[in-house]
Parts: sequence; structure tokens; C-alpha cells
Amino acid sequence: MTAASGPLPETFESIRRAIPPSVTLIAVTKFLPVDTIRAAYGRGVRHFGESRVQEAIAKQADLTDLPDITWHLIGHLQTNKARKAVEHFDWIHSVDSLKLAQRLDQAAQDLSKAPRCCLQVKLVPDPPKSGIDAAALEPLLPQFDQLAYLKLCGLMTIPPQGASDSTIREVFGGAKTLAETINRANFSRLHIDQLSMGMSGDYREAIACGATLVRLGTALFGPRPPAP
Ligand SMILES: *Cc1c(COP(=O)(O)O)cnc(C)c1O
Repeated sequence: MTAASGPLPETFESIRRAIPPSVTLIAVTKFLPVDTIRAAYGRGVRHFGESRVQEAIAKQADLTDLPDITWHLIGHLQTNKARKAVEHFDWIHSVDSLKLAQRLDQAAQDLSKAPRCCLQVKLVPDPPKSGIDAAALEPLLPQFDQLAYLKLCGLMTIPPQGASDSTIREVFGGAKTLAETINRANFSRLHIDQLSMGMSGDYREAIACGATLVRLGTALFGPRPPAP
């Protein structure tokens, strides 16, 4: 037992148990110390989500004694960090442009390491957020399909800040429908079998709409410190 069991909120275990076993729980630990990761690991969590490449690299260097962690990059990724992201993450949820996908694909080839990737999509207009508009995605799909090294297997989506319940359902339901539409086109590589959707405020709705990966921070750990 290498993980120290640091303090976690009392609600940690009940939230964790509320996630069906068929759904992968990603514990989002951005801005939180490695002790928190160790504590969650001690309770059996193996999937961790970080929003920044450099922050994650620093934490990974502290956690080399926990080799069976699956690392998920969930935050916006600049193309110039594509290579580092491929090196340090098992999953990249935030593929929000064809150009980024092409850089990641090149890095995957160079490093002989292919992370699983999600296309970040927007099902309703949301100007401040990154992501590809569903309508803009369709004509690009054949080009995404050509990427030979990346494992493009999912869609990731986030409802707009403050969205109503009906908009949240429209977003999550829309992601599910978009995945089905993509799969019906029978591309040679591109096949979507993962839906990364649901955060602390809306994971129940996301699971009801077919989420396979939920990304929970505050629900598990309480309020997090501001971005450094
Ligand atoms: C921070 C973050 C989360 C977790 O948010 P909570 O509301 O704390 O659960 C999930 N997904 C992404 C993309 C994030 O940036």
C-alpha cells in the first residue's frame, strides 16, 4: 500500500458509488495536490483528469510509484504541446480542431504511442468554449478518418455555463445522436464508442443520456483552489 490516505470529503465514497460500474469515473484533480490523488487512489480510483499538460507532468513525476494510473487530458491543448500530451497522457478528451488532431497523429507515429482521443464538440452555440460545431464537423469527418495512428474513439462535450435542464439534455442527447450518425457512415477507422460527458453539476443527466466517461472534480473533492 503505497498511497497515503489523505483526507477526502465524507461524500467522496457515496458519489463514487453513485456512478454505475459501466461508466468510467475520471477524478478531476486539476489544481489539487498530489496527496489528493494518492488519497483517491487509495480508495480505488485509477482514472485521473488534468486540464494542463505541465501541471500533469509535474504530478506524474511525483507519482511514479503508482504506475497503473490512467491519465486523461481534459483541458484545451495548444498544437505546440501535442507531442508532450501524447507522451504523458493515455487519453486526450479535448481534440478541438483538425489541425490539432493531425499534430497528435504525427506525434503518435513518432513516439509509437497512440492515446485514445475524443473530439470535443459543441451541440449548441457556445462562443467562449473550444470545440467543433456539430455542423462544421460533418464535412471534416473523412479527414479525421484518415489519421492512421490516433485512436479517435469518442466525443466529448460540455453544456454552456448556466444551461437550463432542457439545454443540458439537448447537448447530451445530441452528442449521443451525433455518435450514432458518425458510426452509420461506416468510416474505416473512425468509430465512436465513448461519450465523455458529465461534470459535477450534470453527471446524472449525462449518464441517463449514455455517457461512458464522467469527469468529476468538486463533487468528489469539494471546492478546488483557483487556477495558479
Ligand atoms: C474542471 C473540469 C471538470 C470537472 O469539473 P467539476 O465541475 O469540478 O466536476 C470536468 N471537465 C472539464 C473539461 C474540466 O475542465
